Amino acid sequence: MGEKEKVTSPNSENMDVLSSTQTVIGNALEKLGYPNEVYELMKEPLRMMTVRIPIKMDDGSTKIFTGYRAQHNDSVGPTKGGVRFHPNVTEKEVKALSIWMSLKAGIVDLPYGGGKGGIVCDPREMSFAELERLSRGYVRAISQIVGPTKDIPAPDVFTNSQIMAWMFDEYSRIREFDSPGFITGKPIVLGGSHGRESATAKGVTICIREAAKKKGIDINGARVVVQGFGNAGSFLAKFMHDAGAKVVGISDAYGALHDPEGLDIDYLLDRRDSFGTVTKLFKNTITNKELLELDCDIIVPAAIENQITKENAHNIKASIVVEAANGPTTLEATSILTERDILIVPDVLASAGGVTVSYFEWVQNNQGYYWTEEEVEQKLEKVMVNAFENIYNLSKSRRVNMRLAAYMIGVRKMAEASRFRGWI
Ligand code: GLU
Repeated sequence: MGEKEKVTSPNSENMDVLSSTQTVIGNALEKLGYPNEVYELMKEPLRMMTVRIPIKMDDGSTKIFTGYRAQHNDSVGPTKGGVRFHPNVTEKEVKALSIWMSLKAGIVDLPYGGGKGGIVCDPREMSFAELERLSRGYVRAISQIVGPTKDIPAPDVFTNSQIMAWMFDEYSRIREFDSPGFITGKPIVLGGSHGRESATAKGVTICIREAAKKKGIDINGARVVVQGFGNAGSFLAKFMHDAGAKVVGISDAYGALHDPEGLDIDYLLDRRDSFGTVTKLFKNTITNKELLELDCDIIVPAAIENQITKENAHNIKASIVVEAANGPTTLEATSILTERDILIVPDVLASAGGVTVSYFEWVQNNQGYYWTEEEVEQKLEKVMVNAFENIYNLSKSRRVNMRLAAYMIGVRKMAEASRFRGWI
């Protein structure tokens, strides 16, 4: 394994994100008073497809890639969720990610269940042409189980609007009609929505603002650390900077930058590559581990899973942790932070802005009528503020942390829909 994998690998504690999410689902259903059979239904995806995709590489060789598509629960509606291209993708991770998508859909009240896909590959080491062949090959491999009314993919880690465009084109060719509603996160000219690219970060920004109000912190002048400089992290750093916060730390997979006076975010955005790498250009870097322990008011993990663990949770200095990544805090760390009175805005709430605007994109595709950026932003604002309030209030009234409150709200609609359908 190369050096970069070492820094991106999850911590050994609680590596199994599937069992930790099952634990919280179990707790949420118990609090809501559902019988065990509801847990049995929800603890795993209803469908999980594993595919092997042969791809001709530029050097003439053929490489076989492994891909997955998980469909957690389609009682509420078609399943929905991104596709990630990453060397560390595993079947268990994709399953957990599909469950998280169901929860997000429940939290922001979308007519979807959760789905997720992944391909084990390192796009940083592949050419544009190889990535196109892989994206198209994946769609051919899973075409039978996906579609605008079945399961709607979207971008995730290391996938972007170009990859969505190839997938959309491949699917439309297979079906022999233009099918923009098959996938979201497309370029605007192919039916993408205004505001989709920055939507995850916008949603996170709204959560930060609401959480800061609860904690009596003024965003103007607040010191913020953002881990990860990909789609969510980079837009977020910019939004925070523009709102008057001091972004004192950022990182990518290779290292982190720190300046107690605030980093020059516009300069860093200008220098980052398409995978969000920027720290390689600097000599004076710190590690991702050091980044998380910096003196600051708000930490936003916006990279990958298992970053705040029982090893470092005691050293976190922030009073608010807003999870822009999926699964960045382990269950042990959640308990430690909660005991320390640090407010955690959980991933399934904080990162739900992306799928919310994906839903808006799908609605626009289905009706063939397109909205302005302002319309999209106003609608997103309403959805996120509502979701935050509901979860915050439930966490207070039931005296549970915001993660458990979010899971309780996230599973409720799915459980009801499954019951009405006669599944349980
Ligand atoms: N991959 C994103 C997520 O984890 C977005 C999914 C979507 O837009 O469907 O929420």
